[in-house]
Amino acid sequence: MDFKCSVSRCLEDVAWQCNCPEKFKFCLTHGKEMSNHSSLKKCLTESIKGKYLELLVKQCTNALNHVESDCIKLAQEMICEINDLILSEQKNKANTIVNWANTLSVLQREKNQYCFSVRKLLGIDNTNIKIVTDWERLEEELKTLRKNFEESCKKINGLEKELKNSNEANKKLSDELENTKKKNL
Ligand SMILES: [Zn+2]
Ligand SMILES: [Zn+2]
Repeated sequence: MDFKCSVSRCLEDVAWQCNCPEKFKFCLTHGKEMSNHSSLKKCLTESIKGKYLELLVKQCTNALNHVESDCIKLAQEMICEINDLILSEQKNKANTIVNWANTLSVLQREKNQYCFSVRKLLGIDNTNIKIVTDWERLEEELKTLRKNFEESCKKINGLEKELKNSNEANKKLSDELENTKKKNL
């Protein structure tokens, strides 16, 4: 199923689909074009955001399955290679590979670093690696924002306390003033 907005050269995510035989699709920014089309052709439109998101999830899962099968394939090839080395009595070479594999401890690795290594290993281009670094940058920014937010909260609490104290002092003074007035009457 094609999930492109039917307005020419539009690259936005689609949200609506009409029931014409051509099944035209529209994104959120082209809602006006959608109503113009519907009133002209007397067709009805329905939201397909859910279906579209489902498709995206499926595509992501497929891509990850692909990486998974590549990793398995690579491991199998390495096992064959080690077997061949042992069979041809090149034990030193085989030991080097075995030692390397033993130090990998794939599952204990930090996830970001591991994804980065796998990408490098599978020769995936730098734009994908950039996504990882962008993500790390965003995480860092989020941390700073949180810290700033906590500091601001502390400052606000301090100011609230000061305000409360000043209010109390004000009340005391005005009470005193009232009392002096009463005495002077
Ligand atoms: Zn239509
Ligand atoms: Zn559009």
